[in-house]
Amino acid sequence: MLYRFLTALGIQPLPSRRAGWVVTRCPLAPLRHQRGTDNNPSFGFRVGAGGGRCHCLACGYSGTLARLVADLRQAVQHQGLALAADFAAAEALIEAAGGQAGGLSLGDTGPDIEALANGARAAEHLFPEWWLNQFPPAHHQGQLHPYLQARGVDMATAIALDIRFDAGRQRICFPIRDFNGFLRGLHGRSILPDGQPRYLMYRYGGQNCPSIWHGESWLDPDRPVLIVESVFDAARVFPHYPNVVDPLTADLMPEKIRRLSGCAEYLLLFDNDPAGQAARRKLRQAWAGARLRDLYLPAGCKDPGEAPPALLASLLGTLASPSADFRLG
Ligand SMILES: [Zn+2]
Repeated sequence: MLYRFLTALGIQPLPSRRAGWVVTRCPLAPLRHQRGTDNNPSFGFRVGAGGGRCHCLACGYSGTLARLVADLRQAVQHQGLALAADFAAAEALIEAAGGQAGGLSLGDTGPDIEALANGARAAEHLFPEWWLNQFPPAHHQGQLHPYLQARGVDMATAIALDIRFDAGRQRICFPIRDFNGFLRGLHGRSILPDGQPRYLMYRYGGQNCPSIWHGESWLDPDRPVLIVESVFDAARVFPHYPNVVDPLTADLMPEKIRRLSGCAEYLLLFDNDPAGQAARRKLRQAWAGARLRDLYLPAGCKDPGEAPPALLASLLGTLASPSADFRLG
């Protein structure tokens, strides 16, 4: 049923290594992705139990099949999206299936997307400390790894964030620890120009913990929490404002948003692009009623990871001390 549905919408299913999902390129990429493309196919249609939903890891789109049809129809009719779709046929298939898209089995060969979609199930998964010890620190005798130097990360931050190096995979790695300090993952950035994927969420025992934020272990929820997009954004911002976290993936799943609820205040510093704007909207909606401020970098500066230190200092310096409200509170 799902393949007929995809065909009706003009969406091409791709060979998939992801259990429980049919993977495609994001059909909304021309509107929702920064470059208008989805070259590392990020869109998935859930099959089997929990079927009938789709999800984009790149732009965060999430919805039922009926919702997708409505959004695509809207995009084709009013926003110039080019898609050879037969919407009536797609809707008829949804109706015939009672809203479900089950009935497809793709084998069980890779839990990554499933884990991303089901943070609660992986919530208790711990990585042992001895596992982390296979990756040495990304500095030695006062010398930072050249990649960290090139990205403008300083030694104090490399030590504070416990940044590691995986020589086998040629990745700079950030240990991910939860609110209790337990090791819950490792996030590795390829240092090779064409290294794919650029970011790897390491697994232990076949699982990772996608609902954990990078920075939970040093976070002070009683002070304004700065949220940036990536590990390198956090590493660059850390010297100026240490109460910073990043979500590791563009996908802000409900379980992840719940984990960070109840902080005194949120400061959002996402990238100046459609994905960043979508993330701001999503958090503002999820934390309605919370104190929340949007921070912006000047036009031409893509993200905090690329901002000059002086700019970060002037943007974040005034935030570093608690505001009068908090002193009085
Ligand atoms: Zn997308």
